Amino acid sequence: MRAKYMKVDAKCPDQDAIALGGKLLREGRLVAFPTETVYGLGGNALDAGASEKIYAAKGRPSDNPLIVHIARMEDLYPIAAEIPENALVLAKSYWPGPLTMIFPKTDLVPLQTTGGLESVAVRFPSDPVAQALIIAAGGYVAAPSANTSGRPSPTTAQHVMEDLGERIDLILDSGPVGIGLESTIVDFTQEIPAVLRPGFISLEMLTQILGEVKMDPGLLKDDPDVRPKAPGMKYRHYAPKASLKIVEGRETDVVRWINEQAEQAGAEGKKVGILAASESADAYDFGEVICVGSRSEEEEIARHLYDALRRFDSLGVDLIYSEAFDTPRMGTAIMNRLLKAAGHHCIRV
Ligand code: AMP
Ligand code: MG
Repeated sequence: MRAKYMKVDAKCPDQDAIALGGKLLREGRLVAFPTETVYGLGGNALDAGASEKIYAAKGRPSDNPLIVHIARMEDLYPIAAEIPENALVLAKSYWPGPLTMIFPKTDLVPLQTTGGLESVAVRFPSDPVAQALIIAAGGYVAAPSANTSGRPSPTTAQHVMEDLGERIDLILDSGPVGIGLESTIVDFTQEIPAVLRPGFISLEMLTQILGEVKMDPGLLKDDPDVRPKAPGMKYRHYAPKASLKIVEGRETDVVRWINEQAEQAGAEGKKVGILAASESADAYDFGEVICVGSRSEEEEIARHLYDALRRFDSLGVDLIYSEAFDTPRMGTAIMNRLLKAAGHHCIRV
Protein backbone atom coordinates (compact mmCIF):
# COMPACT_ATOMS: atom_id res chain seq x y z
CA MET A 1 0.00 0.00 0.00
CA ARG A 2 1.32 3.43 -0.95
CA ALA A 3 -0.07 6.26 1.20
CA LYS A 4 -2.19 8.87 -0.56
CA TYR A 5 -0.52 12.27 -0.12
CA MET A 6 -2.46 15.52 0.20
CA LYS A 7 -1.24 19.06 0.81
CA VAL A 8 -3.41 21.08 3.20
CA ASP A 9 -3.42 24.74 4.12
CA ALA A 10 -1.98 25.03 7.65
CA LYS A 11 -4.43 27.70 8.85
CA CYS A 12 -7.56 26.90 6.85
CA PRO A 13 -7.47 23.14 6.17
CA ASP A 14 -8.97 21.95 2.92
CA GLN A 15 -12.35 20.33 3.66
CA ASP A 16 -11.94 17.46 1.17
CA ALA A 17 -8.68 16.35 2.75
CA ILE A 18 -10.15 16.56 6.25
CA ALA A 19 -13.30 14.67 5.23
CA LEU A 20 -11.23 11.90 3.63
CA GLY A 21 -8.93 11.70 6.68
CA GLY A 22 -11.93 11.56 9.02
CA LYS A 23 -13.59 8.82 6.94
CA LEU A 24 -10.43 6.67 6.87
CA LEU A 25 -9.97 7.05 10.64
CA ARG A 26 -13.60 6.10 11.30
CA GLU A 27 -13.01 2.97 9.16
CA GLY A 28 -10.11 1.99 11.44
CA ARG A 29 -7.35 3.05 9.02
CA LEU A 30 -4.21 5.14 9.59
CA VAL A 31 -3.65 8.80 8.71
CA ALA A 32 -0.50 10.86 9.38
CA PHE A 33 -1.11 14.52 10.15
CA PRO A 34 0.69 17.64 11.37
CA THR A 35 0.57 18.86 14.96
CA GLU A 36 2.43 21.81 16.47
CA THR A 37 4.98 19.41 18.07
CA VAL A 38 5.77 16.72 15.47
CA TYR A 39 3.80 14.82 12.78
CA GLY A 40 1.50 12.19 14.34
CA LEU A 41 0.39 8.77 13.10
CA GLY A 42 -3.34 8.76 13.79
CA GLY A 43 -5.78 5.92 14.37
CA ASN A 44 -9.19 5.84 16.08
CA ALA A 45 -8.25 5.75 19.80
CA LEU A 46 -11.44 3.91 20.77
CA ASP A 47 -10.86 1.10 18.25
CA ALA A 48 -8.51 -1.60 19.58
CA GLY A 49 -7.81 -2.82 16.03
CA ALA A 50 -6.72 0.64 14.88
CA SER A 51 -4.29 0.92 17.80
CA GLU A 52 -2.84 -2.48 16.94
CA LYS A 53 -2.28 -1.25 13.38
CA ILE A 54 -0.37 1.78 14.73
CA TYR A 55 2.02 -0.45 16.68
CA ALA A 56 2.53 -2.67 13.63
CA ALA A 57 3.15 0.23 11.22
CA LYS A 58 5.74 1.85 13.50
CA GLY A 59 7.30 -1.40 14.78
CA ARG A 60 6.54 0.03 18.23
CA PRO A 61 6.79 -2.23 21.31
CA SER A 62 3.21 -2.99 22.43
CA ASP A 63 3.87 -1.85 26.03
CA ASN A 64 4.55 1.73 24.87
CA PRO A 65 1.18 3.50 25.26
CA LEU A 66 -0.31 5.95 22.76
CA ILE A 67 -1.43 9.52 23.47
CA VAL A 68 -5.13 10.16 22.79
CA HIS A 69 -5.71 13.47 21.00
CA ILE A 70 -8.92 15.43 21.51
CA ALA A 71 -10.11 18.73 20.02
CA ARG A 72 -12.93 19.75 22.41
CA MET A 73 -12.56 20.15 26.15
CA GLU A 74 -15.81 18.27 26.79
CA ASP A 75 -14.36 15.15 25.13
CA LEU A 76 -11.93 14.74 28.05
CA TYR A 77 -14.59 13.60 30.54
CA PRO A 78 -15.75 10.37 28.82
CA ILE A 79 -12.17 8.96 28.71
CA ALA A 80 -10.64 10.20 32.02
CA ALA A 81 -12.08 8.66 35.19
CA GLU A 82 -10.61 11.19 37.67
CA ILE A 83 -9.48 14.68 36.75
CA PRO A 84 -7.93 16.71 39.58
CA GLU A 85 -8.88 20.38 39.80
CA ASN A 86 -5.28 21.54 39.22
CA ALA A 87 -5.18 19.63 35.92
CA LEU A 88 -8.17 21.65 34.74
CA VAL A 89 -6.40 24.85 35.78
CA LEU A 90 -3.33 23.77 33.80
CA ALA A 91 -5.55 22.97 30.81
CA LYS A 92 -6.94 26.52 30.95
CA SER A 93 -3.41 27.88 30.43
CA TYR A 94 -1.84 25.35 28.05
CA TRP A 95 -4.64 23.59 26.13
CA PRO A 96 -4.82 23.61 23.21
CA GLY A 97 -1.04 23.20 23.16
CA PRO A 98 2.07 21.01 23.56
CA LEU A 99 0.99 19.46 26.88
CA THR A 100 -0.09 15.86 27.56
CA MET A 101 -1.79 14.92 30.84
CA ILE A 102 -2.20 11.41 32.27
CA PHE A 103 -5.34 10.36 34.17
CA PRO A 104 -6.93 7.06 35.24
CA LYS A 105 -8.81 5.79 32.16
CA THR A 106 -12.46 4.82 31.72
CA ASP A 107 -13.63 1.61 30.01
CA LEU A 108 -14.21 3.57 26.80
CA VAL A 109 -10.46 3.48 26.10
CA PRO A 110 -9.22 0.02 25.02
CA LEU A 111 -6.13 -1.40 26.76
CA GLN A 112 -4.56 -1.76 23.29
CA THR A 113 -4.43 2.05 23.11
CA THR A 114 -2.87 2.44 26.57
CA GLY A 115 -0.28 -0.33 26.18
CA GLY A 116 -2.11 -2.35 28.85
CA LEU A 117 -2.13 0.48 31.43
CA GLU A 118 -5.19 1.59 33.43
CA SER A 119 -4.27 5.23 32.75
CA VAL A 120 -4.67 7.32 29.60
CA ALA A 121 -2.48 10.11 28.22
CA VAL A 122 -4.52 12.95 26.66
CA ARG A 123 -3.50 15.95 24.57
CA PHE A 124 -5.50 18.76 22.95
CA PRO A 125 -3.27 20.01 20.10
CA SER A 126 -3.47 23.61 18.86
CA ASP A 127 -2.73 22.86 15.20
CA PRO A 128 -5.86 23.68 13.11
CA VAL A 129 -5.34 20.70 10.75
CA ALA A 130 -5.03 18.32 13.71
CA GLN A 131 -8.13 19.77 15.36
CA ALA A 132 -10.26 19.55 12.21
CA LEU A 133 -9.14 15.96 11.57
CA ILE A 134 -9.84 14.84 15.16
CA ILE A 135 -13.36 16.26 14.99
CA ALA A 136 -13.96 14.64 11.57
CA ALA A 137 -12.76 11.31 13.00
CA GLY A 138 -15.30 11.41 15.83
CA GLY A 139 -13.26 13.10 18.58
CA TYR A 140 -10.55 10.65 19.70
CA VAL A 141 -7.36 10.06 17.72
CA ALA A 142 -4.47 8.00 19.12
CA ALA A 143 -1.32 9.45 17.61
CA PRO A 144 2.29 8.64 18.41
CA SER A 145 4.97 10.36 16.39
CA ALA A 146 4.75 9.22 12.74
CA ASN A 147 8.24 7.67 12.52
CA THR A 148 9.54 4.12 12.48
CA SER A 149 10.10 3.23 16.13
CA GLY A 150 13.56 4.33 17.30
CA ARG A 151 14.17 6.90 14.51
CA PRO A 152 14.04 10.67 15.00
CA SER A 153 10.46 11.98 15.14
CA PRO A 154 9.15 13.53 11.89
CA THR A 155 8.97 17.31 11.64
CA THR A 156 7.96 17.33 7.95
CA ALA A 157 5.60 15.20 5.85
CA GLN A 158 8.66 14.06 3.83
CA HIS A 159 10.08 12.46 7.00
CA VAL A 160 6.77 10.58 7.41
CA MET A 161 6.89 9.47 3.77
CA GLU A 162 10.46 8.12 4.24
CA ASP A 163 9.48 6.00 7.23
CA LEU A 164 5.83 5.03 6.73
CA GLY A 165 4.92 5.85 3.10
CA GLU A 166 4.32 2.16 2.33
CA ARG A 167 2.47 1.30 5.53
CA ILE A 168 -0.35 3.80 6.03
CA ASP A 169 -3.36 5.13 4.13
CA LEU A 170 -2.98 8.92 3.98
CA ILE A 171 -0.42 11.65 4.74
CA LEU A 172 -1.65 15.22 5.25
CA ASP A 173 1.11 17.79 4.62
CA SER A 174 0.87 21.36 5.92
CA GLY A 175 4.61 22.03 5.89
CA PRO A 176 7.23 21.90 8.67
CA VAL A 177 5.97 21.89 12.28
CA GLY A 178 6.44 24.85 14.62
CA ILE A 179 7.94 23.31 17.79
CA GLY A 180 9.77 20.20 16.64
CA LEU A 181 9.95 18.29 19.95
CA GLU A 182 7.19 16.09 21.41
CA SER A 183 4.79 17.39 24.08
CA THR A 184 5.58 17.77 27.77
CA ILE A 185 3.93 14.86 29.62
CA VAL A 186 2.57 15.42 33.15
CA ASP A 187 1.25 12.51 35.20
CA PHE A 188 -1.78 13.34 37.37
CA THR A 189 -2.24 9.80 38.71
CA GLN A 190 0.37 10.50 41.43
CA GLU A 191 -0.11 12.51 44.63
CA ILE A 192 2.29 15.19 43.33
CA PRO A 193 2.08 15.78 39.56
CA ALA A 194 5.20 14.48 37.81
CA VAL A 195 6.86 15.36 34.50
CA LEU A 196 7.40 12.11 32.60
CA ARG A 197 8.82 13.77 29.47
CA PRO A 198 10.17 17.35 29.22
CA GLY A 199 8.99 19.52 26.32
CA PHE A 200 8.15 23.07 25.25
CA ILE A 201 6.15 23.61 28.49
CA SER A 202 9.01 23.77 31.00
CA LEU A 203 9.13 22.73 34.65
CA GLU A 204 9.10 26.41 35.63
CA MET A 205 5.92 27.06 33.62
CA LEU A 206 4.24 24.07 35.29
CA THR A 207 5.42 25.01 38.79
CA GLN A 208 3.99 28.51 38.42
CA ILE A 209 0.52 27.03 38.05
CA LEU A 210 0.67 23.77 39.99
CA GLY A 211 3.01 24.67 42.83
CA GLU A 212 4.85 21.44 43.54
CA VAL A 213 5.82 19.35 40.49
CA LYS A 214 8.29 16.42 40.41
CA MET A 215 10.60 15.29 37.64
CA ASP A 216 10.21 11.53 37.13
CA PRO A 217 13.36 9.96 38.68
CA GLY A 218 13.74 7.75 35.59
CA LEU A 219 14.32 10.88 33.50
CA LEU A 220 17.23 12.17 35.50
CA LYS A 221 19.51 9.14 35.32
CA ASP A 222 20.44 6.47 32.83
CA ASP A 223 20.17 3.75 35.44
CA PRO A 224 18.56 0.42 34.50
CA ASP A 225 17.30 0.10 38.11
CA VAL A 226 15.31 3.37 37.90
CA ARG A 227 12.56 2.71 35.36
CA PRO A 228 10.92 5.77 33.79
CA LYS A 229 7.17 5.95 34.47
CA ALA A 230 6.47 6.70 30.77
CA PRO A 231 7.18 3.27 29.26
CA GLY A 232 8.36 4.88 26.01
CA MET A 233 11.18 6.75 27.72
CA LYS A 234 13.07 3.53 28.47
CA TYR A 235 13.72 2.80 24.80
CA ARG A 236 16.60 4.19 22.73
CA HIS A 237 14.92 6.78 20.62
CA TYR A 238 15.29 9.65 18.21
CA ALA A 239 18.44 7.97 16.96
CA PRO A 240 20.26 8.50 13.66
CA LYS A 241 21.86 5.42 12.07
CA ALA A 242 25.45 6.46 12.87
CA SER A 243 26.61 6.41 16.49
CA LEU A 244 26.27 9.78 18.16
CA LYS A 245 28.37 11.23 20.99
CA ILE A 246 27.70 14.46 22.85
CA VAL A 247 30.73 16.57 23.74
CA GLU A 248 30.43 18.91 26.73
CA GLY A 249 32.77 21.59 28.00
CA ARG A 250 33.90 25.16 27.22
CA GLU A 251 33.15 26.08 23.60
CA THR A 252 36.83 26.42 22.60
CA ASP A 253 37.71 23.06 24.21
CA VAL A 254 34.77 21.32 22.54
CA VAL A 255 35.66 22.71 19.10
CA ARG A 256 39.34 21.78 19.48
CA TRP A 257 38.55 18.24 20.69
CA ILE A 258 35.99 17.54 17.94
CA ASN A 259 38.35 18.95 15.29
CA GLU A 260 41.12 16.58 16.46
CA GLN A 261 38.78 13.58 16.43
CA ALA A 262 37.31 14.51 13.04
CA GLU A 263 40.75 14.98 11.47
CA GLN A 264 41.90 11.61 12.76
CA ALA A 265 38.72 9.83 11.70
CA GLY A 266 39.00 11.44 8.24
CA ALA A 267 42.58 10.13 7.94
CA GLU A 268 41.21 6.65 8.68
CA GLY A 269 38.69 7.04 5.87
CA LYS A 270 35.68 7.63 8.12
CA LYS A 271 33.06 10.28 7.46
CA VAL A 272 32.26 12.39 10.53
CA GLY A 273 29.11 14.45 11.17
CA ILE A 274 29.21 17.44 13.51
CA LEU A 275 26.08 18.99 15.06
CA ALA A 276 26.81 22.56 16.02
CA ALA A 277 25.27 25.88 16.99
CA SER A 278 25.70 28.80 14.57
CA GLU A 279 28.10 30.49 17.02
CA SER A 280 30.71 27.72 16.56
CA ALA A 281 29.75 26.00 13.26
CA ASP A 282 32.40 27.87 11.22
CA ALA A 283 35.18 26.80 13.59
CA TYR A 284 35.08 23.18 12.40
CA ASP A 285 37.63 22.33 9.71
CA PHE A 286 36.71 18.69 9.05
CA GLY A 287 33.61 16.56 8.49
CA GLU A 288 30.03 17.37 7.59
CA VAL A 289 28.84 20.21 9.81
CA ILE A 290 25.10 20.75 10.34
CA CYS A 291 24.10 23.92 12.12
CA VAL A 292 20.87 23.64 14.15
CA GLY A 293 20.56 27.33 14.96
CA SER A 294 21.76 29.96 17.35
CA ARG A 295 22.15 29.39 21.10
CA SER A 296 20.19 32.59 21.61
CA GLU A 297 17.23 31.11 19.66
CA GLU A 298 16.58 27.86 21.51
CA GLU A 299 13.26 27.31 19.75
CA GLU A 300 15.14 27.24 16.45
CA ILE A 301 17.47 24.54 17.82
CA ALA A 302 14.47 22.45 18.98
CA ARG A 303 12.74 22.87 15.62
CA HIS A 304 15.77 21.73 13.59
CA LEU A 305 17.13 18.94 15.80
CA TYR A 306 15.34 15.90 14.34
CA ASP A 307 15.77 17.06 10.75
CA ALA A 308 19.51 17.44 11.40
CA LEU A 309 19.74 13.90 12.82
CA ARG A 310 17.93 12.57 9.75
CA ARG A 311 20.19 14.54 7.39
CA PHE A 312 23.23 12.80 8.85
CA ASP A 313 21.60 9.53 7.76
CA SER A 314 21.29 10.79 4.17
CA LEU A 315 24.90 12.03 4.24
CA GLY A 316 25.96 8.50 5.21
CA VAL A 317 28.28 9.57 8.04
CA ASP A 318 29.99 6.89 10.15
CA LEU A 319 29.94 8.77 13.45
CA ILE A 320 28.51 12.01 14.79
CA TYR A 321 29.77 14.44 17.43
CA SER A 322 27.28 16.91 18.84
CA GLU A 323 27.77 19.99 20.93
CA ALA A 324 25.59 20.12 24.09
CA PHE A 325 22.63 22.51 24.09
CA ASP A 326 21.81 23.40 27.68
CA THR A 327 19.76 26.43 26.71
CA PRO A 328 17.77 28.26 29.43
CA ARG A 329 14.16 27.13 28.88
CA MET A 330 13.98 24.27 26.38
CA GLY A 331 17.47 22.93 27.20
CA THR A 332 16.06 20.15 29.41
CA ALA A 333 13.87 18.89 26.55
CA ILE A 334 16.55 19.30 23.87
CA MET A 335 19.19 17.49 25.95
CA ASN A 336 16.71 14.75 26.95
CA ARG A 337 16.17 13.90 23.25
CA LEU A 338 19.85 14.28 22.33
CA LEU A 339 21.01 12.07 25.23
CA LYS A 340 18.52 9.37 24.20
CA ALA A 341 19.62 9.63 20.57
CA ALA A 342 23.21 9.21 21.81
CA GLY A 343 22.36 6.27 24.07
CA HIS A 344 23.69 8.57 26.87
CA HIS A 345 27.20 8.70 25.37
CA CYS A 346 28.51 11.97 26.68
CA ILE A 347 32.16 13.08 26.75
CA ARG A 348 33.36 15.93 28.97
CA VAL A 349 36.46 17.72 27.61
P1 AMP B 1 4.91 9.33 21.38
O1 AMP B 1 3.53 8.89 21.13
O2 AMP B 1 5.90 8.71 20.47
O3 AMP B 1 5.01 10.82 21.52
O4 AMP B 1 5.21 8.76 22.83
C1 AMP B 1 4.24 8.85 23.83
C2 AMP B 1 4.89 8.82 25.18
O5 AMP B 1 3.85 8.94 26.16
C3 AMP B 1 5.65 7.54 25.47
O6 AMP B 1 6.87 7.83 26.12
C4 AMP B 1 4.69 6.82 26.39
O7 AMP B 1 5.34 5.92 27.21
C5 AMP B 1 4.03 7.96 27.15
N1 AMP B 1 2.70 7.58 27.67
C6 AMP B 1 1.56 7.46 26.96
N2 AMP B 1 0.54 7.04 27.75
C7 AMP B 1 1.05 6.89 28.98
C8 AMP B 1 0.50 6.46 30.24
N3 AMP B 1 -0.77 6.11 30.35
N4 AMP B 1 1.33 6.42 31.30
C9 AMP B 1 2.63 6.79 31.19
N5 AMP B 1 3.21 7.20 30.02
C10 AMP B 1 2.44 7.24 28.94
MG1 MG C 1 7.66 8.91 19.41
